[in-house]
Amino acid sequence: MMTAALNAAEVSAKLPPRRQRNNTMAFKLHNTLTRQLAELRPGEPGHVRFYTCGPTVYNFAHIGNFRAYIFEDLLRRYLKFRGFRVTQVMNLTDVDDKTIRSSREQGLPLRQFTKKYIDAFFEDLAVLRVERAEHYPAATDHVPEMIALIQTLLDKGVGYKSDDGSIYFSIAKFPSYGKLAHLDMTGLRSGARVAQDEYEKESAADFALWKAWDEKDGAVVWDAPWGRGRPGWHIECSAMSMKYLGQSFDLHTGGVDNIFPHHEDEIAQSEAATGQPFVKYWMHCAHLVVDGKKMSKSLGNFFTLRDLLDKGYSGREIRYELLATHYRQSLNFTFTALDAARAALGRLDEFSDRLRTIAGVADPDHHLPAWAQQALDAFTAALDEDLNISAALAALFDMITAGNRAMNEKTLNAAGASTVLGLLKRFDSVLGFLQPEQQQADADALALLEQRQAARKAKNWPESDRIRDELKKRGWVIQDTAQGPKLKKM
Ligand SMILES: [Zn+2]
Repeated sequence: MMTAALNAAEVSAKLPPRRQRNNTMAFKLHNTLTRQLAELRPGEPGHVRFYTCGPTVYNFAHIGNFRAYIFEDLLRRYLKFRGFRVTQVMNLTDVDDKTIRSSREQGLPLRQFTKKYIDAFFEDLAVLRVERAEHYPAATDHVPEMIALIQTLLDKGVGYKSDDGSIYFSIAKFPSYGKLAHLDMTGLRSGARVAQDEYEKESAADFALWKAWDEKDGAVVWDAPWGRGRPGWHIECSAMSMKYLGQSFDLHTGGVDNIFPHHEDEIAQSEAATGQPFVKYWMHCAHLVVDGKKMSKSLGNFFTLRDLLDKGYSGREIRYELLATHYRQSLNFTFTALDAARAALGRLDEFSDRLRTIAGVADPDHHLPAWAQQALDAFTAALDEDLNISAALAALFDMITAGNRAMNEKTLNAAGASTVLGLLKRFDSVLGFLQPEQQQADADALALLEQRQAARKAKNWPESDRIRDELKKRGWVIQDTAQGPKLKKM
């Protein structure tokens, strides 16, 4: 056996500097506005400003919601991987038809009601390893900005007051209305109005910018120059996105459900007010179904993240499944796929564990083995093509096969193994589920583990179970080993 032989793979040519490589490659995305692939060219070179419609905080987010947030997280992480600076804004819809209705049903003041779900939302994002956006504006903190925007629309004659004191947007005064959803505007009844936040394309009509107070709103009310009431849902996103990103910004994302009416109305309000193009690129992610069926409570196939955690799956496994289907394809969520995600992650962990056993001191001048370089090139080329995640994951698993072969043949030396570990770390900056670093339990988690041991010694089983659940919540599972119980990151 020629263990000291030079690995042919390691003779691969040294990489040209990254900047130079990027000149010949570009990130392309499918723009809903044009229904075409387009190269992303931000208004300010190198800096992508994007807005993502965030949760309506009236319940725990379900896995369909998280599919969209994970798609946006992949986009964000990949843009950073490609060297862009990113400013991302995700709003919190904490006042709208749904939040008001549910808070009234529970007899709680709106803010107190929504706080519970805002806190839960951020906990869930952490479990799913979704990176934090730069800004999370809440609608109730931005009502003055909404009032100012509505005032501009009134001044321009695009907004008008209805008999009940609400303010509506006249879609007849905005000739390009329907350009995002590709609406057929012929036969539209002029002057028809729709009061609720959500409606079908067939009901396209003048929509509410401001809803005059009525009894159903209870204590939820603000004063505006034209009367008391509250903002409509759509104006919230126009006001908050432009406040943090400017009148024209690069990219706006959401689920396909948001295309109409929400995003169509955002465009109309913003462009009618400023006379500027609102957003250059729109990206929308497809639905999630469960076992091929629409997720619904009545079918018993409705899952929040918490439901899946209770079934013993980890955030990392759920993230894998939600990420692994291309964002423009409908995602069929199944427990079989979740089990397959667990197996795939096991294979990835085994590979990085094996690399760590031979890795030496990292040498920044050491080349990637050819098979790893190939994986990096294929991974980047795939994600450059409108985030083709299936091809990117295929590149990753091809690398594992090649890497395991190299280790079997003992053609990977210590420096080579270190560079591959470094590459896994770079991949993880995009994927967020690789965990190439050995996770060390923090002091708090270790203290909990000790408390659990004490509880067990005292035969206090409820307390022991409580601590185990607490650790699980923080992402740790307890494993019994010959050296006593150890913590393993889920
Ligand atoms: Zn929105």
